[in-house]
Amino acid sequence: MALRRILRIDNPDDKKILTTRCHPVRMPNPSLKQLVADMFETMHAANGVGLAAPQIGITQRLAVISIPPTVEERPDGTKVEVAPEQNFVLINPEIIKASDQEEVALEGCLSLPGWYGEVPRAAWVTVEYTDLNGRRQRIRRATGLLARALQHEIDHLDGILFTERIRDLSTLKDYSEEMAPAAAE
Ligand code: ZN
Repeated sequence: MALRRILRIDNPDDKKILTTRCHPVRMPNPSLKQLVADMFETMHAANGVGLAAPQIGITQRLAVISIPPTVEERPDGTKVEVAPEQNFVLINPEIIKASDQEEVALEGCLSLPGWYGEVPRAAWVTVEYTDLNGRRQRIRRATGLLARALQHEIDHLDGILFTERIRDLSTLKDYSEEMAPAAAE
């Protein structure tokens, strides 16, 4: 496995690649396994919950998502994992249905480290994608962070950056001196 360099929105050469509409991945594709392993490693090293192939310079419709487990604390202080970690390899993903209700929340991008802004997203989405085994799969009515990450990553594959989705640009702020206020993708 190998760490890859994450392209940056604030670098003009990188931005050209990040704003390109990506090509469909042709399947089967034996080199994909290694690439996906590198993407998970690169995403985890940067503390992200999602990473799209164009963010490492590959303009193909491929993204990975890793939603951390949900842990609840009981009154006596013990912690209970109420939902496991969820990992996805999304090849040629498509939003096939989306809520017309919107949720606005802080969102960050690994291609603009430290910066977060309020992004409106559909409250839930149903996504179809191909998995590493070449099977078409469906995530039905994903909500919360998964819904947000799916929309953020699929936007990357269309060359759309989260900064373009922010309606009120005064909410876009540099939090690099503080604790990250939200997930970065
Ligand atoms: Zn991003």
